[in-house]
Amino acid sequence: MTLVQSEAERIDGLVDELVAEFPPASTDAPTFLGAQFDRGLAWVHFPEGEGGLGLAPAMHQRAASRLSEAGAPSAAMRNVIGYGMVAPTIVTHGTEEQKRRYLRPLFTGEEVWCQLFSEPGSGSDVASLATRAVRDGDEWVVNGQKVWTTVAHLASRGLLLARTNPEVPKHQGITCLLIDMHGEGVDVRPLHQITGEAEFNEVFFTDARVPDADRLGGEGEGWRVAITTLMNERVSIGGGVSRRGLGPIDVALKVWREHWAGDTSPHAMAMRDRLVRLWVASEATRLTNQRASDLRRRGTPGPEGSVAKLAFAEQNKLIGELSLDLLGARGMLHSNTYPKVRPSGVGMGGSDVPKQFLRTRANSIEGGTSEVMKNILGERVLGLPGDVRADKDLPWKDVPRS
Ligand SMILES: Cc1cc2nc3c(=O)[nH]c(=O)nc-3n(C[C@H](O)[C@H](O)[C@H](O)COP(=O)(O)OP(=O)(O)OC[C@H]3O[C@@H](n4cnc5c(N)ncnc54)[C@H](O)[C@@H]3O)c2cc1C
Repeated sequence: MTLVQSEAERIDGLVDELVAEFPPASTDAPTFLGAQFDRGLAWVHFPEGEGGLGLAPAMHQRAASRLSEAGAPSAAMRNVIGYGMVAPTIVTHGTEEQKRRYLRPLFTGEEVWCQLFSEPGSGSDVASLATRAVRDGDEWVVNGQKVWTTVAHLASRGLLLARTNPEVPKHQGITCLLIDMHGEGVDVRPLHQITGEAEFNEVFFTDARVPDADRLGGEGEGWRVAITTLMNERVSIGGGVSRRGLGPIDVALKVWREHWAGDTSPHAMAMRDRLVRLWVASEATRLTNQRASDLRRRGTPGPEGSVAKLAFAEQNKLIGELSLDLLGARGMLHSNTYPKVRPSGVGMGGSDVPKQFLRTRANSIEGGTSEVMKNILGERVLGLPGDVRADKDLPWKDVPRS
């Protein structure tokens, strides 16, 4: 028996045991997910005792598919930022105490996390961030503002990047802190998106305090920590491997079948041509992601995450446009009347075509813009000359800011 076969059998056995002992239909989600974590089936590629079994990352997909088929609750859906981005960052950079304290409630969804990186003046160039953290005994005192913070209104913890040393160049003076979102001095305010929903927020810090024990990584090493989060973010957004027959292109296919099947007019043929081209591109991306996931070694994902993120964003936008065009005049109606709500999760995906058309516009911005993904691919994969970085070696305090 090969190693892959024996790892697969081990996973199948553990999944069968878990589902038999905790039937998903009659077990509440935190209890089921807690038992899943304790059996190492949360992220099977994480070390034992930290929600994993120390297996190859490719095995994670097998465990996830088996559990999904059995009707298990989805930890990713309950805690999208925590599951895909914060957990790998804590596993890579956290102390034993931090891993023990944070990973399990993150996985069960009892502690939802948000990512506090972007600021009004620092999005693509997040290393230029200005939120300050100043050491005061065993604590850090945080002042500043973050923006576009997805699910901050639901989060109890935040992964925060703050400037702790303005005297050194921008990448060197950042420290990562794990902040209590319900603590004093943390103010979360909704920001409404083009869909009308406020999935994201702006977050203000006024003398908010974080114990030094909640510093993730070394003082001034926040950029290294952030890279782990950002690499995982790209895979988390664009690198998922769904089954064929699921996903945005299948919503477009359904709309085409409902409204255009049997129509042989030139207009219908042109629509079908657009649909087939996008179906082929989506399938190529799905298979590319499958291959990247099979080949992934332990550790932080590489530039393949930027390929996936770029393809996902650009295809999703085209599919959103096509689906709307396929609906014709009906596409002008936003079926849920532009609700001004703060949703209980992230609204990517789904069959509400007008809403999804609007939501996909954010895909080429969130998690790094398409232009920035192209820069990364140009520099790190193709070896092209780097972007101009005039402020790279200047102390952060001497860099002009608007
Ligand atoms: C739906 C959504 C959810 C988000 N959630 C979060 C979150 O949870 N946490 C968080 O921290 N952030 C979040 N963000 C913020 C996101 O990461 C930033 O919006 C993104 O990195 C771009 O930054 P910016 O908006 O400041 O645009 P800018 O960086 O100001 O960019 C403006 C334009 O200039 C282009 N540009 C910038 N630099 C370059 C360059 N070097 N070369 C070529 N073109 C360039 C960009 O591509 C873009 O078109 C979210 C954003 C969205 C839309």
